[in-house]
Amino acid sequence: MTEAASQERLNGPRSSGGLSPAATLTRATEYLARHGVDAPRRTAEILLMRVLKTDRAGLYRRREGLNSTEARLFGRLLCQRCTGTPLQYVVPEQQFMDLVLETKPGVFVPRPETEQLVEAALEVLAGGPAEPIVVDVGTGTGAIALAIKRFTSGARVLATDISLDAVNLAQANADRLNLDIGIRHGDLLDPLPSELRGRVDLLVSNPPYIGLEEYESLPSEVKAEPYEALVGGIEFHRRLADSALEWLAPGGWLMTEIGAGQGNEVKRLFAELLDRVEVLKDLAARDRVVRGSLKKLA
Ligand code: SAM
Ligand code: GLN
Repeated sequence: MTEAASQERLNGPRSSGGLSPAATLTRATEYLARHGVDAPRRTAEILLMRVLKTDRAGLYRRREGLNSTEARLFGRLLCQRCTGTPLQYVVPEQQFMDLVLETKPGVFVPRPETEQLVEAALEVLAGGPAEPIVVDVGTGTGAIALAIKRFTSGARVLATDISLDAVNLAQANADRLNLDIGIRHGDLLDPLPSELRGRVDLLVSNPPYIGLEEYESLPSEVKAEPYEALVGGIEFHRRLADSALEWLAPGGWLMTEIGAGQGNEVKRLFAELLDRVEVLKDLAARDRVVRGSLKKLA
């Protein structure tokens, strides 16, 4: 459906003065549901809150109908969502732990399951030095690095990404949230200052880990995210494990997110080089995180 047509169906002819927000919401919900969009009511609310620049309470308090500019914008946002643009690219933000992060087309949208990687990271940091050195590899929006800094204020946190868009967005998020982390552009650990060799207490990463075959079967809205952020199998885990020896402090941890079927393979890989290797499961009981620590010198 064209933008004009969807706007007309949602709001009626412009001369009618527009429907109330409540009626607009109902119509928009039906429209999104017909297009197979997940959580249609919640999505309609989020888009309308954006258009009317209000919160949920304001949305339900308001009696006044949408003016034509608002109606046109709302129609455009609905259209984008219905044609497969992820919600976080239409309304460019995503909550991660207790942080609201800016999101942007071209940069991976943080997922709730990655909060478990952060929880597992905070757990090992709690038992370590008061001012640990932490590196988040492939930081995207900055989600993991910023959440770790938020909950471990004494940490020196660095983050890398091969995508310049990601580096810029992570920096913008860090600035806006007033969290002091160092963000660097480049491949894996290459951008780190060499003085950190052998001193890193935690190397953490949610790398691209989807296999090529699985990628083909993904819904189009996941494929709207950058390919380089998604596809990689266990190649990154292998490369990270190899670098860990050079960068980790004795007793330091390597911790990565994995796909549900990758637990055994990545565990084996880590166990060749690291101690205390274990696979942690997510809330849906799927393998989600592998961690291991560098042997301490005797
Ligand atoms: N850590 C973020 C999160 O959890 O929301 C983003 C994770 S996303 C799955 C993987 C990220 O790794 C992307 O931002 C991508 O640009 C980055 N990346 C891919 N290859 C890389 C490489 N060789 N070196 C550094 N970063 C890389
Ligand atoms: N969890 C993501 C997804 O299934 C994949 C993330 C990744 O490759 N690191 O969409």
